[in-house]
Amino acid sequence: MKKLRFLLLALLAALLLAGTGLAAPAATATSSKVLVNGRAVAFEAYNIDGCNYFKLRDLAMALAGSEKQFDVGWDGTGNAVTLTSGKAYTPVGGELSAGSGKTPAVCASSAAVSLDGRALSLRAWNINDYNYFKLRDVGASLDFGVGWNGAENTVTIDTSTGYTAQAVLAVHFLDVGQGDSEFVQLPSGKTLLIDAGEAEYGDRVVADLKALGVTKLDYVVATHPHADHIGGMSKVLSSFAIGAVYVPNAVTTTATYKYFLAAVKSCGAPAYVVRAGASLFADEDGAAAAVLAPNSESYDDLNNYSLVLRLSYGSRAFLFTGDAEALSEKEITANVQADVLKVGHHGSSSSTNAAFLARVAPSYAVIEVGAGNDYGHPAAQTLSRLAGAGAAVYRTDKNGSVTMRCDGKNITVSTER
Ligand SMILES: [Zn+2]
Repeated sequence: MKKLRFLLLALLAALLLAGTGLAAPAATATSSKVLVNGRAVAFEAYNIDGCNYFKLRDLAMALAGSEKQFDVGWDGTGNAVTLTSGKAYTPVGGELSAGSGKTPAVCASSAAVSLDGRALSLRAWNINDYNYFKLRDVGASLDFGVGWNGAENTVTIDTSTGYTAQAVLAVHFLDVGQGDSEFVQLPSGKTLLIDAGEAEYGDRVVADLKALGVTKLDYVVATHPHADHIGGMSKVLSSFAIGAVYVPNAVTTTATYKYFLAAVKSCGAPAYVVRAGASLFADEDGAAAAVLAPNSESYDDLNNYSLVLRLSYGSRAFLFTGDAEALSEKEITANVQADVLKVGHHGSSSSTNAAFLARVAPSYAVIEVGAGNDYGHPAAQTLSRLAGAGAAVYRTDKNGSVTMRCDGKNITVSTER
């Protein structure tokens, strides 16, 4: 057993190292539609890493005559783009079709950009010798409204309003029967998936994410190697572009775990073994995710290896506990206070101990649990502890998938049923 454990660890280490290579970003012609003040407009744009990038000249042409019109000048010698607000754009040729038909050659843009003589710091890519920018960045600089409708794959530009940050965090507690899967859309537009339910739910998770317009999962967390958390991961990892995978320092010998390891390797993303004190990200437009557990090197029960994450945004926080039990809960010394608690271990009485619950002090609790499961989850004791703590309880067996939206201050809840 010791030897097998060592071999599996060695295999895990090998695949982790194999996945850390850096690749040049790939650009594909965007499939998104663009509406300017409600009118469909043609753009030559590219999608890189899940974000659309546009040419300033195309944008200037589309906005000519509007409240937010601007002119674009180009100084080839100085490699500088100069924008002038309030001035109509005069086409110079090369708009829209410049890169069409060519295989996109991408490199980081080194052009300096200024607006009315003031330097702007904009993320840009040079594609086929033209500079491409994110509409949100341009909208923020020129103060016009930019919106995104993921369901219709449509970007909306509104020149009658000023720019407002699309500052909403959405957390979807997916109904995967007796298992866990939570999907988070960060205010930055990036995505986080925590667990993917049993293997038989893999297709459902993939379908749910596709319905939300997801093409890439930037952060994927497998809390611990039990089938009701990682079973669906193989389908998920092979269905989307994957940024990085995070796992605890836990191994097991099941076939499900072997499939999971193989899927991590073949998705090509780097995998990181993390524990308490690590951070998935410190600032995704104001959202941060800290790893609070596991705190020990080894446990008798795989459940206690569960990665516990505290996702904070503005003055609000969500706590994701996997199947961590009282032992792990007691070891956590970091701040666990959260407005929303994903209840540990499907509501089992072995988790959500009273002292821990008092420290979390949640307003909302979500139990991911299957109707009529064999384990008697959720336990009556857990439900009464949650009621005593004054938390509003949502259950995936009764409510279906549960979605919470947070603007950093307010939290709204909607349920499938
Ligand atoms: Zn579980």
